[in-house]
Amino acid sequence: MTDVAYVALGSNLGNRERALDRARTAIAAIRDTVITAETPIEETEPIGPQPQGRYLNQMIAVTTGLPPHTLLAALHRIERAAGRARASRWGPRTLDLDIVMIEGQNISDDSLNVPHPELNNRDFWQRQLALLRGSVDG
Ligand code: AMP
Repeated sequence: MTDVAYVALGSNLGNRERALDRARTAIAAIRDTVITAETPIEETEPIGPQPQGRYLNQMIAVTTGLPPHTLLAALHRIERAAGRARASRWGPRTLDLDIVMIEGQNISDDSLNVPHPELNNRDFWQRQLALLRGSVDG
């Protein structure tokens, strides 16, 4: 079974461009997982209460043979390797990886919500997703 998943990459701490670069390299190295498309990188305003720097954001499409929770665990390992501290929910981060959507899947449990609930609130995610789905489907 192969899934098409859309993963959002974000960074607002340190060398943001390099963090996204390394994240793509690490994701491409996940077992049974291939990056098939990437959006351009864009800069966005931080969401949340505390003052923090602007984010660089990008979304990628992957095909993966991994079950969704296994993919999520792999993404969490990559976040940890990037030195992300989980001190506060909305605070600055070296690397944030989210599964935005998986074609044909609805998941809602303690550790994973797909489609990601924030998809409704983030215009740039909707735009990036539309771009990728256009290039994946077309
Ligand atoms: P965040 O701090 O925003 O990266 O949230 C991380 C937590 O959100 C993790 O513990 C995940 O288990 C949970 N989570 C739920 N749904 C998703 C999703 N679609 N993508 C990434 N993390 C998710």
